[in-house]
Amino acid sequence: MIAASVPEPGRWRVGEHPDAPPPAAGEARVRVIATTVCATDRKVLEGRFAGVRYPLIPGHEWGGEVVAVGDGVTHVRPGDRVGVEVHVGCGACERCREGMRNLCLNYGRRESGHAHIGFTRDGGLAQFATVPARALYPVPENVPDDALAFVDSLALALAAAERGGVRAGARVAVFGSGAIGLLAAQAARAMGARVAVVAGGRESRRRLAEALGFPTALAADERLRERLVSLLGGDPDVALEMAGGEQAATQAILSVRRGGAVVLAGSTGTGPQVRGVELATVVRGQLSILGSVATHGAVVHRAVALLAAGAVDTAPLVSHRLGLSRFEEAWDIFCAPGTDAVRVLLDPAA
Ligand SMILES: [Zn+2]
Ligand SMILES: [Zn+2]
Repeated sequence: MIAASVPEPGRWRVGEHPDAPPPAAGEARVRVIATTVCATDRKVLEGRFAGVRYPLIPGHEWGGEVVAVGDGVTHVRPGDRVGVEVHVGCGACERCREGMRNLCLNYGRRESGHAHIGFTRDGGLAQFATVPARALYPVPENVPDDALAFVDSLALALAAAERGGVRAGARVAVFGSGAIGLLAAQAARAMGARVAVVAGGRESRRRLAEALGFPTALAADERLRERLVSLLGGDPDVALEMAGGEQAATQAILSVRRGGAVVLAGSTGTGPQVRGVELATVVRGQLSILGSVATHGAVVHRAVALLAAGAVDTAPLVSHRLGLSRFEEAWDIFCAPGTDAVRVLLDPAA
């Protein structure tokens, strides 16, 4: 099969690769239909994501069609189109048993049943992938093929919105106008919230947010808070920080109303810190400051439901589309400084 692989940190290889193995008990073999790359893949390539096992086929934003299942797999069948929850908890540790499989205590211990697809075992930058069947969620027929690649990302965004207590009528400021930010904005809107997007420096991203129907503010605007009040008709009840970086986190905390909630979901790597926030802002404002990482099963079901209802449109997030064998070109497009790329979609069949 064709695959993009990382034999060792710092080096890609694209071309023929040994086939994904037949599924063992509890696993399924999936023909990949759509797969996208994101900035996290860059960390994987460069050896900057803790816990990654090389050699590796990366790819953690993908979906496809089940072609074979191993013993004991009953919830998906060959022919099902599926989205993939890429972080699969062991199911047995304390956090997993609390339902917080995204916080599994057995990260990277494959013998425990834990898997992080595209990180600790082969992912979706290939024509086929064999994965734990627990990772797979059937997607109804009316959802377009490309949207399969967004199931995990949408679930991640939805998990952040749910964690912030977003509900009908809430005023929500989403910090970040990349793919994840715009998925969070759409998820919050689908939940009945009034949403504004705070865009960074790239004008193309701001325009994309507007095209999706969101009023926008600019992170660089010195009067950002006033701008949000005018867009939302009041101070935000909830700020969703999906941009990564210190500025977005700080602005999210400083812009939310007293008693409001701030969800920090953008900075998953080491480095960024929150500076310049007086503790009294949090204490006297009685803010709920919450972290959110990845997603977990029940949320994935709801993300699939949003796609099936047509409440979230992923098509505008696909800025480029290439065949998987042209991976190197796709990667250059994605990594070019100042690129207009949002999500570059690789089609393994092309
Ligand atoms: Zn990603
Ligand atoms: Zn666990």
